[in-house]
Amino acid sequence: MCNESRLTQTCRCGGEMTIHMHTLIYKAKVKIASVPVFMCRSCFHYEPHPAVKRDLSLVIQELGSQPQRYSFSFAERNEWASVLNDAFITFKGEDCDLEQIVQEAMSDRIDLLLDLFRIASKAADPEWMGEIESRLLMLICHTASKVS
Ligand SMILES: [Zn+2]
Repeated sequence: MCNESRLTQTCRCGGEMTIHMHTLIYKAKVKIASVPVFMCRSCFHYEPHPAVKRDLSLVIQELGSQPQRYSFSFAERNEWASVLNDAFITFKGEDCDLEQIVQEAMSDRIDLLLDLFRIASKAADPEWMGEIESRLLMLICHTASKVS
């Protein structure tokens, strides 16, 4: 399940949608920070980024219909959101190339995970190795979908 990782798309109104990190409020009680969304520059319509829709709906399913007051960062639950979060810390506005910053943040994260994987494999910890592997796969999908 490789998802699109584009940083812009066209809105149904014809406007350009760009990526933002957004705080979603669920059922007026749960604050979910750092959710990648596409927001239209013309009509301000926004929607969760297609690449995170699946994880986001899992999170919402877990919260259920009567959640407690709670707040957390979506970046803890989704590797790509976490990389984007890093990228937006570096991103200083329109004159920076966001795409390049995202790619750098992505390759930094992949390097880090590969290092961790080596440590986990030396420690012969299959559970940890599996966890790192699934985090890596999530990112490698994003990198691969760029090329195609
Ligand atoms: Zn629009």
